[in-house]
Amino acid sequence: MSYETSQTGVSDLPKIIIVGGGWAGLAAATKLVQSGAKVTLFERNKELGGRASSFYDSDFGEWLDDGPHIFIGAYTTALGLLETWGVQDLISFDDGDEIPFIYSNGKEIQLKLGSRGGALGAFSSLMTFKGMTFSERLKTARVAKAMLELKVINPQSEPTVADFLSKYGIKEGDCGGFWDAVTVAVMNAPTKLAGLKPLVGALKEGLLVGGKAGRIGMFLKPFQQSYIEPAKKYLIKNGVDVRIGTSVDSLIVNNDDYIAGVKTANKQLTADKVILAIPPKAVLQLLPVSWQEDSYFARLNSFRTTPIASVHITFDRPVLKSRFACLPGAFTHWVFSRGERERQGWSKVSTVISNVPGKNEMTLEEIEKAVLKDLLKRLPEASNANVKHIRGIRTMNATVLLEPGSELIRPISQTPIRGLFLAGDWCKTGLPATIESAARSGEQAAK
Ligand SMILES: Cc1cc2nc3c(=O)[nH]c(=O)nc-3n(C[C@H](O)[C@H](O)[C@H](O)COP(=O)(O)OP(=O)(O)OC[C@H]3O[C@@H](n4cnc5c(N)ncnc54)[C@H](O)[C@@H]3O)c2cc1C
Repeated sequence: MSYETSQTGVSDLPKIIIVGGGWAGLAAATKLVQSGAKVTLFERNKELGGRASSFYDSDFGEWLDDGPHIFIGAYTTALGLLETWGVQDLISFDDGDEIPFIYSNGKEIQLKLGSRGGALGAFSSLMTFKGMTFSERLKTARVAKAMLELKVINPQSEPTVADFLSKYGIKEGDCGGFWDAVTVAVMNAPTKLAGLKPLVGALKEGLLVGGKAGRIGMFLKPFQQSYIEPAKKYLIKNGVDVRIGTSVDSLIVNNDDYIAGVKTANKQLTADKVILAIPPKAVLQLLPVSWQEDSYFARLNSFRTTPIASVHITFDRPVLKSRFACLPGAFTHWVFSRGERERQGWSKVSTVISNVPGKNEMTLEEIEKAVLKDLLKRLPEASNANVKHIRGIRTMNATVLLEPGSELIRPISQTPIRGLFLAGDWCKTGLPATIESAARSGEQAAK
């Protein structure tokens, strides 16, 4: 094994190693390099991006994302990073103020997000949603008010979202599917599994405050072009040593009490501090056995994850009129237009199914069929269309499942081990496990 000191020759600057090149690792690297640290970033995949990645599909003849991602105007840290990388214009918030809900009878109802009027605008827009009956609007108004007024949620007695809604007389499927759709989109889990706190955290920053914060944005191009290449270019240009395709296998521990670097398959690299911007189970794998059993780290074993499936489809004609739509009560939760709406008269859509059944319960082919069935039923233009290409992808550990009490196991960045810091969407940010949570935790670790 060869031995290397990071960034040899520059001894006065702090030497930091970041493990993981997803949004958390990229945020940490960007923040640190701006403050003059010497940074080495390890990513085991062949590309950066982590769970927000793209791959080239030769059948489709284009880059496809693992799954379509939405941004909220309230993603201040993530949007700030896009600006730093020079790609803020590649995300579009056009049409992001209205969400079409398309029901099983083909009826389409617009949900307005009220980006023009702040909290009051958001609230009054919600009250005009025709998917709800008059009495459901009153119940929703009470829920929204109660959420805005909630100051502290005790993690020991945190309710599920379903428990909270039921106090106001709202059950699954009520309110035109509004609460189910919001919860599954934000928490990647249905109301009966999701803990209330992260949902309230996200709604208080976005949907319920209205204005720009409540708008929905999407990248105009696949991740590879939108942010992965630009972020990599920015980091390399600013002196970050980006090592892609290199897995960190273990940590170098001095006197069993502080971190002095990392080991890869054939190298050791020393550093002053190490940030692990990787999922909780991957953190445990890197730790010495004695630390894995320590109660601070052992709790990371309690995280469960929830899968997401995406089905990308190219049709021989346009099928979706809007940029995206919600399909309440369907197997498929959301359908998105993928980039350019038409090519030679074709149209390209991607769908998202959160908390999708696992491999033993449903094959990918069955998922593709179920999605097609939904689209044929809900999008009138799809019923006469032919499928040119279809490809389903299921990400098993798409996000951690933030059940009631998750605050008790989500860690802050600083660990009890000197020199060791954690980052990732699963860390304690008060937000659901999203890009913004990953970016904020990365910046916290860097700080
Ligand atoms: C299909 C899908 C749809 C989603 N939709 C949305 C959405 O609409 N909006 C939203 O905000 N969020 C969405 N998310 C969640 C979002 O993608 C994640 O919250 C975010 O990407 C997590 O970033 P991260 O940096 O915390 O972790 P990751 O992206 O998992 O990054 C960790 C990185 O560490 C690397 N790594 C692990 N171990 C090692 C090691 N030993 N050595 C070197 N490298 C290692 C991994 O390869 C990985 O690249 C979605 C996720 C999925 C899967």
